[in-house]
Amino acid sequence: MTTGKLIVLTGPSGVGKGTLVRSLLARHPELYLSISATTRTPRPGEVEGKDYYFLSREQFEALIHSDNLLEWAEYAGNYYGTPKASVIEQIEQGGLVILEIEVVGARQIKQTFLDALLIFILPPSVEELERRLRGRGKDSSAAIEKRLKRAVEELAVADEFDLQVVNDNFEVALEEIETAIFAVNSKS
Ligand code: 5GP
Repeated sequence: MTTGKLIVLTGPSGVGKGTLVRSLLARHPELYLSISATTRTPRPGEVEGKDYYFLSREQFEALIHSDNLLEWAEYAGNYYGTPKASVIEQIEQGGLVILEIEVVGARQIKQTFLDALLIFILPPSVEELERRLRGRGKDSSAAIEKRLKRAVEELAVADEFDLQVVNDNFEVALEEIETAIFAVNSKS
């Protein structure tokens, strides 16, 4: 019988986790991406229930207190968390579930799901990360400063995770991640 697996992609904001995840899903439709809850304001073009569940702080805190989140963290002034029910359901059905989350949440998963695969995505350098964050034009300069400060703290703990992948050459990074996911899965 196939057992479900939790696969966590973590690493600093701007490192390209989102783009890597989208490519993974396009190439492997059997992967299930968990949709997170957040109190962040939607960016232009983001869709409720597709990019995130956009909640008020009160709604998010209610999820924390009712134990409906698998993990959660505060990041750059907002809450982010993984709704529990759909992930557990997918794993019980033998699914490969992807979480794209920051480091504090990834650590919580490491403690609660001992056989989760935790992949840390690194930028080629901090300078390149700053260039990407500024270049994508999605956040205010105050938000970018917060994200950069947090990125330096996150990079310092990269070796706590099972695998480190440098997102320098996108195709190479994607293949390293695919190999890790499917090698782990074939062992189960
Ligand atoms: P953004 O605001 O750029 O969408 O996300 C900011 C950071 O929060 C990113 O590093 C993203 O991976 C992370 N994040 C997104 N969803 C979750 C979640 O459910 N839990 C945690 N811990 N982090 C998340």
